[in-house]
Amino acid sequence: MSDCIFCKIVNKQIPAKVIYEDEYVIAFNDIFPKAPVHFLVVPKAHIESLLTVDHSHQALLGHLNLTLVKIAKDQGLKGFKLAVNTGIEGGQEVMHLHYHVMGKSAHHPL
Ligand code: AMP
Ligand code: ZN
Repeated sequence: MSDCIFCKIVNKQIPAKVIYEDEYVIAFNDIFPKAPVHFLVVPKAHIESLLTVDHSHQALLGHLNLTLVKIAKDQGLKGFKLAVNTGIEGGQEVMHLHYHVMGKSAHHPL
């Protein structure tokens, strides 16, 4: 989607601190971190939110979930908070599905 900020990050039209990328997902640090480690995991395909997914997205969502755990471990996290703001009424501001992963680690102490 041309006017979507996360599609622009996927397409490298605007910069981000990318910490992981594969064929289906990209992960980058949140620009306004709310924890010592705070990154976003984003499907490369433009999906608006969890309100717009269906069973055709099952494999992608499974991949996204497993991948965010791997990235969290690679970032040194032993635990984390996961947030998926969903829909305007759920506080979602960027209308491209993204999972917030937040935690602290020995690499990133408070
Ligand atoms: P929300 O849609 O409410 O889940 O929040 C969107 C999140 O995206 C916020 O935590 C922002 O700080 C973050 N964000 C917005 N623009 C960028 C950007 N260009 N690079 C990294 N993070 C961003
Ligand atoms: Zn998008």
